[in-house]
Amino acid sequence: DRVDNPFEGAKVYVNPDWSAQAARSGGEAVADQPTAVWLDRIAAIESGSAGENTMGLRDHLDAALEQDADVLQMVTYNLPGRDCAALASQGELGPEEIDKYKSEFIDPIAEILSDPKYAGLRIVNTIEIDSLPNLITNVGDRATATENCDVMKENGNYVKGVGYALATFGDIGNVYNYIDIGHHGWIGWDDNFSASAELLHEAATTEGATVDDVAGFAANVANYGAIEEPYFSIDESVNGQMVRQSQWVDWNRYVDIQTFSQAFREEAVSAGFNEEVGVVIDTSRNGWGGPDRPTGPAEKTTVDEYVEGSRVDRRIHQGNWCNQAGAGLGERPAASPAPGIDAYAWIKPPGESDGASKEIDNDEGKGFDRMCDPTYEGNARNLNNPSGALPDAPVSGHWFQAQFEELLANAYPPL
Ligand code: BGC
Repeated sequence: DRVDNPFEGAKVYVNPDWSAQAARSGGEAVADQPTAVWLDRIAAIESGSAGENTMGLRDHLDAALEQDADVLQMVTYNLPGRDCAALASQGELGPEEIDKYKSEFIDPIAEILSDPKYAGLRIVNTIEIDSLPNLITNVGDRATATENCDVMKENGNYVKGVGYALATFGDIGNVYNYIDIGHHGWIGWDDNFSASAELLHEAATTEGATVDDVAGFAANVANYGAIEEPYFSIDESVNGQMVRQSQWVDWNRYVDIQTFSQAFREEAVSAGFNEEVGVVIDTSRNGWGGPDRPTGPAEKTTVDEYVEGSRVDRRIHQGNWCNQAGAGLGERPAASPAPGIDAYAWIKPPGESDGASKEIDNDEGKGFDRMCDPTYEGNARNLNNPSGALPDAPVSGHWFQAQFEELLANAYPPL
């Protein structure tokens, strides 16, 4: 029988691949923190995810038993036509390869996870980052639409893939599935919010899946949105202008990832998910400490000056997602930090790149996305703002030492 919150009272597995990398890169202070194991291609099942990672899934599960851990966190990330609105994490499967996804990716993972030797471990699985939200915001006649996302909406293979993964892992009693919900600077607008909850529900009731296969949702994975904005809030006004009207907030309903996650949870329950669902928030890189962090609210001169001077999320635009300059490690992993939130977790392993700053040949299917190029002036998805990315980044998933050093220096809470 599954417990309500798998993180409650649990010792969470420390990934030795990441831990060793962090320790030899100046991160001794955080090397014992739990991070997620990414299954980002078929080969990762046997020999580890992109970059310097070498351990396969069985190696991790065995190591988790050795650590006497209660929870192992993993991510399944290999949908057909993956990363349809960007290029940096496009994967090995073409848009039509749903059968291969099922038989060569999900099924073999399920076979390993159902080994009775691992039955005492709670396996927390985050399902397919950024996939379903793309089908809401980056399709059709929206200015943000991409051809690839239109294809994935049309052929239904994201919905089928997520449904199949939920159904297959849901049959294993010790697996806890969390479906990715993007972040507030994406799904927090009215046009996207309920539609996303409904689409997730559709995925959770297809290919044999039911809502009982869903433990909850994962928010902010590999993103940078702050847990809270301590110095301004959504319901304030300045000179008769609402904070919602500021350039930064741009009519969104949320200014932080936590209130968004709590509200989305409620919305999902209204859409048909179980009352017990919870949200896991990725806090690996949303700390925003360091010298540029505001220490109090700015003066209420104009609404824009107020929000600009008060916000701790220092990105140029909320649509920026690649290797953000100035970011720091966020809250350390913790169970039940707030109502409706199952955990703060480090799902994106800090120090692993979001994408290459220039074209780099690779055999992982990954493209060059200019959102990772610091000289790029943006596109419709970040309202044509500069990318805010650090220079000289390697291909996504590979170790990015300069970013890791910034994350340590700008950690909040500080290390
Ligand atoms: C990459 C994956 C990697 C993951 C974690 C993604 O952006 O595409 O290959 O495993 O990040 O670093």
